[in-house]
Amino acid sequence: MNIFNQLVVSSLSFTPKFIVAKVADRYIAGEHLADAVSTVKQLNSKGVMATIDVLGEDVTTREEATASRDACVNVLSAIAQHSLNANLSVKLTQIGLKIDKEFCRENVETILSAARAANNFVRIDMEDHTCTDDTLAVYRAVRSAFGGSNVGIVIQAYLRRSEDDVKTLAAEGANVRLCKGIYNESPAIAFKDRREIQQNYIRLLKILFNAKCRVGIATHDDVLIDAASQIIQDLHLTPQDYEFQMLLGVRSERRAQLVREGHRLRVYTPFGKQWYAYSIRRLKENPQIAGYVFKAMFETQREK
Ligand SMILES: Cc1cc2nc3c(=O)[nH]c(=O)nc-3n(C[C@H](O)[C@H](O)[C@H](O)COP(=O)(O)OP(=O)(O)OC[C@H]3O[C@@H](n4cnc5c(N)ncnc54)[C@H](O)[C@@H]3O)c2cc1C
Repeated sequence: MNIFNQLVVSSLSFTPKFIVAKVADRYIAGEHLADAVSTVKQLNSKGVMATIDVLGEDVTTREEATASRDACVNVLSAIAQHSLNANLSVKLTQIGLKIDKEFCRENVETILSAARAANNFVRIDMEDHTCTDDTLAVYRAVRSAFGGSNVGIVIQAYLRRSEDDVKTLAAEGANVRLCKGIYNESPAIAFKDRREIQQNYIRLLKILFNAKCRVGIATHDDVLIDAASQIIQDLHLTPQDYEFQMLLGVRSERRAQLVREGHRLRVYTPFGKQWYAYSIRRLKENPQIAGYVFKAMFETQREK
C-alpha cells in the first residue's frame, strides 16, 4: 500500500461517517434482512452461494445478545422461506461471549436448533485473539451436542497457534473456514510478514485436506487461490470437499472466474445497522482506498 493510501487509512476514524457509508456501500447488502435476501437472490442467480451475517459484535448486555440471537434465527427462516442457497455466519461476541460463556453457548444452541430444523449450517466466525480459546470451547461444546454436521469454525492463518489448533480440529473432522485473519495482532502471537502468512495458510490447508476435512478457502489472494487450486487438483478433490469463499464487494471478476472453472463459491453477505466497525476493517484492506474515499467526497460535493 502506498504512502497516500496509508495516510487515508490512518485518518479513517476521523472521516465523516456519511463518507465511510458511501465508500463502504459495496461491502454491505443493506440495513435490513430484505436487503440481504435480495442480494443473495442476485448472487444465487449467478451460481454463487452465500453466508449471511447479521452485523454486530462486542455486545455488552443480555438484551442486545438475545436480540442478535433472534435476528440470526430470523435469517435462517428467511433463507428457508425464499429457498436461498445460503447459510449463516455468526460472531460469538455478538451473542454474549464476553458477558457469560454459558449464556453464549445457549444462544448458539438456539441458533443451531433452528438451523437443524431448516437443514442448514452455521459458521462461527473467529474474532481477535482474546476470543480464540473461548470461541473454540463454545464451538466444541455445541458440536458435541449437535453431532457436528451443521456447525463449522474459522481458523486464522496469521496466528502462530493455528497449526496446533488445525491439527486438533483435523483429528476431530471439523468443517473449517481458513482465512488470513483481519485483526491487528502482536508479532508475539501472529505472523506479520505477507509471505509467512501465505506459507502458513498453505501449510494449514494441506493438513486439513489430508485429514479429509471440508474446507472453506476464504481468500481473494491470487497466490493462495492458485496454490489451493493446485492442491485440489493434486489430491483429486471433488467440489463437495471444499468451497472458495469471498467477501461481498471484493474481486467479483475473480469470483466469476472460479465459478466458471467449476468451483463452488460462497460470498459472505453482511447486513444490518451495525455496519461501521465491519466497514472500517474492509476499507483498511482496500488497496485503492484513497481513490474511493476521494471519489465519494467529490460525488458528495457534486450532489449538494
Ligand atoms: C468469506 C470470508 C470470511 C472471513 N471471515 C473471517 C473471520 O471469521 N475472522 C477473521 O479474522 N477474518 C475473516 N475474514 C477476513 C480475512 O481474514 C482477510 O482479512 C481478508 O480476506 C483479506 O485477506 P485475503 O486473503 O483476501 O488477502 P489480501 O492480500 O488482503 O487480498 C488479496 C487481494 O484482494 C483484494 N482485496 C482484499 N480485500 C479487499 C477489500 N476490502 N477491498 C477491495 N479489494 C480487496 C485486493 O486486490 C488484494 O490485493 C474472512 C474473509 C472471507 C473472504
